[in-house]
Amino acid sequence: NMTAEPPRIAQLSDAAINRIAAGEVVERPASAVKELVENAIDAGARRVEVAYADGGKTLLRVTDDGHGMRPEDLPLALARHATSKIDGSDLLNIHSFGFRGEALASLGAVGRLTVTSRHAGHDGAVIAVSGGVPQAVRPAALRGGTVVELRDLFHATPARLKFLRTDRAEAQAISDVVRRLAMAEPFVGITLRDVSDGGEGRVVLRTDPESGDLWGALEGRLGRIIGRDFVENAIRIDAEREGVHLTGLAALPTYSRGSAVTQYLFVNGRPVRDKLLIGALRGAYADVLSRDRHPAAALFVECDPLLVDVNVHPAKAEVRFRDPGLVRGLIVSALRHALAEAGHRASSTVAG
Ligand code: ADP
Ligand code: MG
Repeated sequence: NMTAEPPRIAQLSDAAINRIAAGEVVERPASAVKELVENAIDAGARRVEVAYADGGKTLLRVTDDGHGMRPEDLPLALARHATSKIDGSDLLNIHSFGFRGEALASLGAVGRLTVTSRHAGHDGAVIAVSGGVPQAVRPAALRGGTVVELRDLFHATPARLKFLRTDRAEAQAISDVVRRLAMAEPFVGITLRDVSDGGEGRVVLRTDPESGDLWGALEGRLGRIIGRDFVENAIRIDAEREGVHLTGLAALPTYSRGSAVTQYLFVNGRPVRDKLLIGALRGAYADVLSRDRHPAAALFVECDPLLVDVNVHPAKAEVRFRDPGLVRGLIVSALRHALAEAGHRASSTVAG
């Protein structure tokens, strides 16, 4: 209808922009936990404590002993597109978990967020976000590190709240995220507690920083998280092709599972669920496993950040390799080779 007045165009408020963008970053409590634990690790934390109540819907709290923040930086930490991790000139060359500078801004838009932090040489300080708007920074007592508390996630967006699953299912998703991050960071002690009933809460997962060399630490951590039987039935994988490194543990075919739950894949330290990697893993075992069995493995792909784009999705579960064929070939041949060798060893032991 050409004669009607066109609707007026108006600029959205920052709070509205944050809320829209938040939908991409924060899908459920587990995605908030992922962002907060990654921030703690990026801050060099040696110990990270995660607490949740009611599946994370009413409370999430992540406490770390990392480098903390200066009081004057706290408002910036909550601002959109503000980050200490890249300078924007080289978006492909990323060495930290974070880089978008939008997690805290998004969390402040979808829940009641409080950040308390202390950087050595400064006083502790706290900032809260109310209705998506950061409040004034106030002094706070804290020995060091950072505490981020997120209450009543999605209280301002009831439609999203309705999409959340039961407390039990959300708690399970939180535990899954924390376990994967704990596998990728054996030198960080990570604790997960359910504090729904108040007080100290129930310990869901507790790991101390692992000691020893890389293999020792990795096997210790994988044993604690996946189980000692996995580690005892797995072979070490250590291969390299054109600058792409593959390390980790791959289970013997006899340890295979009826479901794919014991498949943990990481790219440059990030837990990923990537079709290419999952397909390569399956391909590597194709000759030694029947179709209804699933290989168990924890594999870490490391390469120059320039060879992989982790910028595909804000939640960063998918990655895009510059040369997918190279990565697939590396995984398939390294695993086949290791499995064949283990097979020979086993048969010669039997024979001998
Ligand atoms: P990003 O991690 O992508 O930079 P975030 O919104 O997650 O964006 O965090 C914004 C900034 O706040 C970070 O770049 C970092 O400087 C600071 N920050 C966030 N969490 C912590 C923490 N736990 N310890 C120290 N600094 C933090
Ligand atoms: Mg971050």
